Amino acid sequence: MSQLVSETFEDLAPADIVSRILDGSNGVPCITCSFQAEDMIVVDLVRKQVPDIAVIFLETGYHFRETYAYRDRMAQLWKLNLINASSKQTVADQESQFGILNQTDPTRCCQLRKVEPLFEALQGYDLWFTGLRREQSPTRRNLQILEQHRLPTGKTLEKVSPLAHWTWEQVWQYTLENKIEYLPLYDLGYRSIGCQPCTAIPADGADPRSGRWGGVKLECGIHTSSDRVE
Ligand code: SF4
Repeated sequence: MSQLVSETFEDLAPADIVSRILDGSNGVPCITCSFQAEDMIVVDLVRKQVPDIAVIFLETGYHFRETYAYRDRMAQLWKLNLINASSKQTVADQESQFGILNQTDPTRCCQLRKVEPLFEALQGYDLWFTGLRREQSPTRRNLQILEQHRLPTGKTLEKVSPLAHWTWEQVWQYTLENKIEYLPLYDLGYRSIGCQPCTAIPADGADPRSGRWGGVKLECGIHTSSDRVE
């Protein structure tokens, strides 16, 4: 599996990438899903081959009410094997110990509520599907469809981003053509949707992720904290 170089996949459609990866691996697959449009496409593609794939949602406790409602609706509709990965502390405990970290130290808040729960959740898997795309952010420009990542424990996973080479237009074309219900927050103008305190509607024409963390940072760390194996 890891002898396949990522460039092999560049000319393939996401559905074919998913098939080739799954057919070529005996590893246990999972997908991280924030229930944004890209993630839903990857879930849709993978669930057709692995109906019970683990769908890992980082349950920070700070999501929009609409996100929770949509997550629950889609989990039921698609009969997802949903895994809510939570922080060791509740929001109330964290706020009482440290205050509102998303205002004072969002990097630490993301570390506690996203990065650590994710790494713990990923421990049991070998193939990690994501909905990341290069176009989403300057920090994702060099994303490869297939990468190897090492967790802090030393465990290595194959990280697969079948939409790496897709545009925003292709995402919506697939979503609409396949009649995938989408998170209603898009209709309000949101483009990149995470925790409510750290998500705003970006200005017209601005980088889609500029609405996250008030433009102070572009990544929460879940896709930048594991070591990419070159
Ligand atoms: Fe905390 Fe904001 Fe990060 Fe969510 S996105 S974990 S609220 S800092």
